[in-house]
Amino acid sequence: MQSIKTLLTSSETALIEASQLSLKEAKFESQLLLQSVLKVNRAWLIAHENDALQANKHADFQALLTRRLAGEPIAYILGSREFYGLNLTVTPDTLIPRPDTETLVEAALDKIAVAAHITVLDLGTGTGAIALAIAKNRPQTNIIAVDSSKAALEIAERNAQNLSIDNVQFILSHWFDALDDKRFDVIVSNPPYIEAGDSHLTQGDLRFEPLSALSSGIDGLDDIRQIIADCLIYLKPQGWLMLEHGYNQAESVADLMAEIGLVNIETLKDLGDNHRVTLGKNPLIVSTHWD
Ligand code: GLN
Repeated sequence: MQSIKTLLTSSETALIEASQLSLKEAKFESQLLLQSVLKVNRAWLIAHENDALQANKHADFQALLTRRLAGEPIAYILGSREFYGLNLTVTPDTLIPRPDTETLVEAALDKIAVAAHITVLDLGTGTGAIALAIAKNRPQTNIIAVDSSKAALEIAERNAQNLSIDNVQFILSHWFDALDDKRFDVIVSNPPYIEAGDSHLTQGDLRFEPLSALSSGIDGLDDIRQIIADCLIYLKPQGWLMLEHGYNQAESVADLMAEIGLVNIETLKDLGDNHRVTLGKNPLIVSTHWD
């Protein structure tokens, strides 16, 4: 019988060769797969690395490893991904939350005072990652999270329940379509923004993720253009629009925001030092709506 350590070592080698992972990533993923088979945490695995593995567990591990070696994202194999300290259920109906998107969460938290009773809208919520991270850290806020995918919305709702977060309401809506006369202090979105022909779409995890959550027209900006064009109807006076975008789209997004009159426009960088989030404020001081 193989020991845990021998099994992990051979899995690391296979992942480095087949999936071009770094040694660090290969180690991490091998451990995650085995942890899920044995239902143990990482500390247990390390403490028991010389233990022998039962044959049936070995077979279960090989089955998961085979899927990973075929390119399936580890988040879909495990059915979960950690985002901003939250453990989220993830399925092929949802985009896999990225660490880069934590920049958007931080931008929102930065504008929302801890005790503020404000309203937030998350457009295209997917797993609910952004809405739930804001909701958890600002429990006084009232959040609406929309998605045009019913399947994604079901996952987002399940995540809210699992995390006992009750200040997010989920609505089936293509962008603002179902929001009627609702108005928000902060609107956040990580919309699809990859250019239609981008080679990344046929590589790595992206091959397995919903294309509707990734790609948006020839220059990747179709959905961003639509969101910006409509946002002033839904933003309260002095409200903020915050969008995640591609590393090379900051200028276009800032220009689009300036064209509709948003002010205090700024771009923030992600952990990889790429321009990733651009925000702008509705300059109105008093509401022009009759609500
Ligand atoms: N940031 C993701 C990626 O490039 C794409 C997410 C998106 O299109 N919103 O992998």
